[in-house]
Amino acid sequence: MQASERINGVLYLVATPIGNLGDISFRAVEILKTVDLIAAEDTRHSRPLLDRYGIERPLFALHEHNEQQASDRLMDRLKNGQRVALISDAGTPLINDPGFPLVSRARAAGIIVTPVPGACALVAALSASGLSTARFAFEGFAPRTGAARRRRFESLVADERTLVFYEASHRIRDCIADVATVFPGDRRVVVARELTKLHESFLGAPAADMPALMDQAPENSKGEFVVVIEGAKPEPTQTGPSVEAVRVLKLLLEECSVKSATGLAARITGARREDLYRVALELQRAGRDGS
Ligand code: SAM
Repeated sequence: MQASERINGVLYLVATPIGNLGDISFRAVEILKTVDLIAAEDTRHSRPLLDRYGIERPLFALHEHNEQQASDRLMDRLKNGQRVALISDAGTPLINDPGFPLVSRARAAGIIVTPVPGACALVAALSASGLSTARFAFEGFAPRTGAARRRRFESLVADERTLVFYEASHRIRDCIADVATVFPGDRRVVVARELTKLHESFLGAPAADMPALMDQAPENSKGEFVVVIEGAKPEPTQTGPSVEAVRVLKLLLEECSVKSATGLAARITGARREDLYRVALELQRAGRDGS
């Protein structure tokens, strides 16, 4: 521990398991065992995890209904040099979980905020989904009502990134029905259920087939869910010269040789000389065939 850390305290954002209690890092356990205070979303919920690892530090409740007041008190402690760990019920704090006001205030106050990374349902689902991980958009929970949810989906249909949503069990079937309504039928969809738990499953199919697949077994709609949707196919990149470049080329071909016309058209329009040359030969051929 550096002296500077003691002056202002440290806020650790500690990821905890999303199902399998083994999914916690050595460093996370070490930090949870030595901090002055653990701020937990639900102290009763976190108890089995803390007991399992012999963690006996004082607990403090920070949840969505007391975030502002709880953050005030935690800020006082941090400013007094205490080391505080923030955990949520599952996974990474602040990822659809409380903590944002505290973290932004701590940062603004110059307090060290440091992540202790680990489980996160969105990353677990995406990485194992078989869909592209190159670019993705995490959308949190989709809106609860059908109309608002479909509007959200409609706003994302053209997005080329893989889309990731969290969903509750009592809405998963309606959500998947809306996915099938709004997204093109061939768009691949993967529903990751009960990640890292006994009944973990991945159901994947084109969007149009997903509702029937979900209905095949009642357990398909039970538990916790992450919905991963393939991004839109990229617009085909335009190959060959633009319409304007071809127009200029045609004009020049009336006066010059193919070589001169393609060279001049390339300089005037910025199109690639070899593309223009190919078009010029095609135009010549078409002209000969037509005469
Ligand atoms: N902070 C958590 C994280 O890092 O993933 C997310 C908390 S958010 C309140 C809870 C939602 O995350 C659930 O409704 C579900 O959509 C998703 N989730 C959490 N654990 C999951 C699991 N084991 N399997 C599938 N989804 C899970």
